[in-house]
Amino acid sequence: MRKPLIAGNWKMNTKLEEAENLVRAMLAELDSIESVEKVLCPPFISLAAVKGLIKDTSIKLGAQNMYFEDKGAYTGEISPPMLIGLCDFVILGHSERRQYFAETDELINKKVKKALESGLTPILCVGESPEENEAGRTEEKITMQINAGLAGISPTSQLIIAYEPIWAIGTGKAATGKQANATISLIRGILANLWNKETAKAVRILYGGSVTSSNIDEFISEPDIDGALVGGASLKADEFVGIVRQTSDLKSTR
Ligand code: PEP
Repeated sequence: MRKPLIAGNWKMNTKLEEAENLVRAMLAELDSIESVEKVLCPPFISLAAVKGLIKDTSIKLGAQNMYFEDKGAYTGEISPPMLIGLCDFVILGHSERRQYFAETDELINKKVKKALESGLTPILCVGESPEENEAGRTEEKITMQINAGLAGISPTSQLIIAYEPIWAIGTGKAATGKQANATISLIRGILANLWNKETAKAVRILYGGSVTSSNIDEFISEPDIDGALVGGASLKADEFVGIVRQTSDLKSTR
């Protein structure tokens, strides 16, 4: 059984005090929903404060990025040992990192390897651009990103994949549940080819792209979708709690 997971990617939003207030506003309700794994990914500077607030709860913490070296002259970067003890998860290869910070599949592969070696669970993001989608090249793009991102990595279910079509991120134009499930089931096929069927079945795969409390049901009711990576809606306490609650309600009645 794959435990459903909802992760909130706060991106470059919330100052320290705002982050603390956001956590306080959803802490008790999120904690009470046990059948879903809940992961908050605030900006680096708020990780320690959020860690303090969620102590003794079932809520987990994730970082939005990391570098693959342990330490050294890499101004502005954050290393795995800095995250260990603070976070359990790390988002890697988000399309905004690929687009604005020129992250390549080769770099992302090094980060995924390092995260796994360090005991962090990577949330590896993949997804096609609007042009690739329109040209019918979704499968080709996703296959390339998964094979390159996981090159040289042994089969493991200590990894989460987020399918995030770029045309759906922050646009309010989500994929349909059927579309997302079709691509996610394709991703399981790619994992089965690269690794093996058993691991492909065990890896949790999320959908991301304009998920809200109004459309989460559509994704969660699909068999291959194990949860969501939520951007904008994770900045509103009632929205995020609503997404987690509906995931819990739907998955437990399946
Ligand atoms: C994201 O950034 O991972 C994301 C899915 O954003 P949004 O939910 O705002 O589309």
